[in-house]
Amino acid sequence: MLKPNEPMIESRSSTQNILRLSASSIIDFALPPACAFCTRDLQNDFEATVDGISLCGRCRKQFTSDERSPCFRCGMPVGPHVDTQDGCSECRHRDYRFSQVIRLGVYDDSLRTACIRGKSRGAEALAGAMAALLCQKLQQELAEFAPDIIVPVPQYWLHWFTRPHHQALTIAEVFGEQLKCLCDERLVRKTRRTIDQSSLPRAKRLTNLKQAYAVQTKHKLKGQRVLIVDDILTTGTTSNELAKVLRKAGASDVAVAVIAVVP
Ligand SMILES: [Zn+2]
Ligand SMILES: [Zn+2]
Repeated sequence: MLKPNEPMIESRSSTQNILRLSASSIIDFALPPACAFCTRDLQNDFEATVDGISLCGRCRKQFTSDERSPCFRCGMPVGPHVDTQDGCSECRHRDYRFSQVIRLGVYDDSLRTACIRGKSRGAEALAGAMAALLCQKLQQELAEFAPDIIVPVPQYWLHWFTRPHHQALTIAEVFGEQLKCLCDERLVRKTRRTIDQSSLPRAKRLTNLKQAYAVQTKHKLKGQRVLIVDDILTTGTTSNELAKVLRKAGASDVAVAVIAVVP
């Protein structure tokens, strides 16, 4: 029977190192020649020249075009002047173990395309640029939450060989750099294979993920504020399962940051 033995862990580790290098070099090479999304030349792009994020002004505008306010608790768009500190009409009754969702926008049009493309092989530059844009636009929200540890949503070890790019990890690595905060991709492990959540109705998503995550080093979490990072958030079930185990292991508060929410 197959076991998640040493060679697998070694392979996973080397993959993570490659990804870490890719993510960390995204910001270092401050002005790449082309937009990571539309490939437009960035030499004369004012915004990219100023902040070094490899996205052109037009793409940035498209990614942040949804002007509806987000619900503080679930990140979904709500009407104007709605107080969502305790949630909106959609999430108020849900037993979320995370306290807030910080997101760049709504999963639609070009943001949807960027999230899908970000899962492809070689999409580290795009995922990293999206993460940097999120950190810039949501600077205040991230500073107010003030995480101690960033945790990417983990994938099952077998997926390191079958999925071309672990987008959540690349995003989390960039968050770590931008927020000067520890990004610990080994803190939580996915213990078993599960069915793809997007193929399941809300009711079945919870049972699909039951006891699928385990904290590896519980002593690290006591009193810590943890930011879970993923590419998208749909029903919040995955983040909530993670938040449950993080809280149980002593985390004092848990928030979620994603590129896009799916209403
Ligand atoms: Zn562009
Ligand atoms: Zn809500």
